[in-house]
Amino acid sequence: MSFTSLGVSQSLLHILETQNYTNPYPIQKEAIPAILNKRDVLGIAKTGSGKTASYVIPILMNLQEKSVKKNRHVQVLVLVPTRELAVQVNDVFKLFGEAIFQTIPQQIKSLAVFGGASINPQMMALQNVNVLIATPGRLLELVEVNAVHLSEIETLVLDEADKMLNAGFEKEMNRVFDLLPPKRQNLLFSATLNDDINTIHQILLHDPIVIKIESFEEDLDLINQSAYFIAAEKKGPLLRYLIKSKKMTQVLVFTSSVVRAERVADKLRKNGIEAKAIHRKRTQGVRTDLLNDFKEGKLQVLVSTDLLSRGIDIEFLPYVINYELPRSPKIFIHRIGRTGRAERPGEAITLISPDEENHFRVIEKKIKKRVVRIPADDLDLRKY
Ligand code: AMP
Repeated sequence: MSFTSLGVSQSLLHILETQNYTNPYPIQKEAIPAILNKRDVLGIAKTGSGKTASYVIPILMNLQEKSVKKNRHVQVLVLVPTRELAVQVNDVFKLFGEAIFQTIPQQIKSLAVFGGASINPQMMALQNVNVLIATPGRLLELVEVNAVHLSEIETLVLDEADKMLNAGFEKEMNRVFDLLPPKRQNLLFSATLNDDINTIHQILLHDPIVIKIESFEEDLDLINQSAYFIAAEKKGPLLRYLIKSKKMTQVLVFTSSVVRAERVADKLRKNGIEAKAIHRKRTQGVRTDLLNDFKEGKLQVLVSTDLLSRGIDIEFLPYVINYELPRSPKIFIHRIGRTGRAERPGEAITLISPDEENHFRVIEKKIKKRVVRIPADDLDLRKY
């Protein structure tokens, strides 16, 4: 099945080609025609499945059909749990939106707004916006100061709805729903289907098309995993040895705390490896810049806390290293899921000190995978 047979417009086919989207992913096969037909959709799929394009493409095509309104009334609202996802989704809208601009007289303008950044530039930018991607709290602040009106929303998207609920956004989400017109299209995406998601689904969605895409466990087959067993104090030299001997040019390293992330990045820099740390104590501006530099290949090593373990898509990331184990198997899956995405194999390496061995066995059991073990205590790491 091709994008053409799904009804994707000519103006978009070219940009799909330049992005190497040769064939639609499973979620796109089902979601694109359903959304074009103005149906509600419940998509159970995680980041990496191609879910963003599955709603961005048909939403832009639907917008393209009508005369686009101006002023502070937006037509499409995408609610997301984090600033990072807001920026990422906006990038996809901009990429495909620009391709459509060339064929219609008026622009389709999208904008990402989120907390933790100053509100004034966002207020100013909210002129003539068609598609607004927002975290719930900041959206309500903007509504309060009349910077945006939601009464003409035609399509509502909840992306990573499960994460939004986990982050405690339920009250804000309900307040947003109350501001929307009753007649609209609703699209709900979530990595998991639990009772809370079921409740929202029943309130929001009308006779939805339900799309369920494979579980995490199946996805793990795309990732080559290995685990190095080593004394805790040798983890630093081992990390440097791995980066150098495997000639890693783009690697995301996970640590368990802000302090440790800083320390690991610092040590790497002192040893001539270009590395920066990203965590919640960095300002939003710095986080965005770091992530962009890393995505564009300008930064070799990004050392992160679990801030980045979910929801961020880095295209073709070849390596993820767990410098320390996360608390839960779920976070472990999210971390290593940063690689081996979009049907490309990636490598996930975990460093295990003796006091982490039991916990690692629990993780292996939960993810139903026996990871290749490499005893590393005998490696000569003196040069590193
Ligand atoms: P998402 O699940 O939306 O975060 O998308 C995961 C990754 O897959 C992104 O890097 C997309 O650019 C890529 N992608 C999405 N759809 C396709 C497709 N049909 N063919 C190739 N790559 C795709």
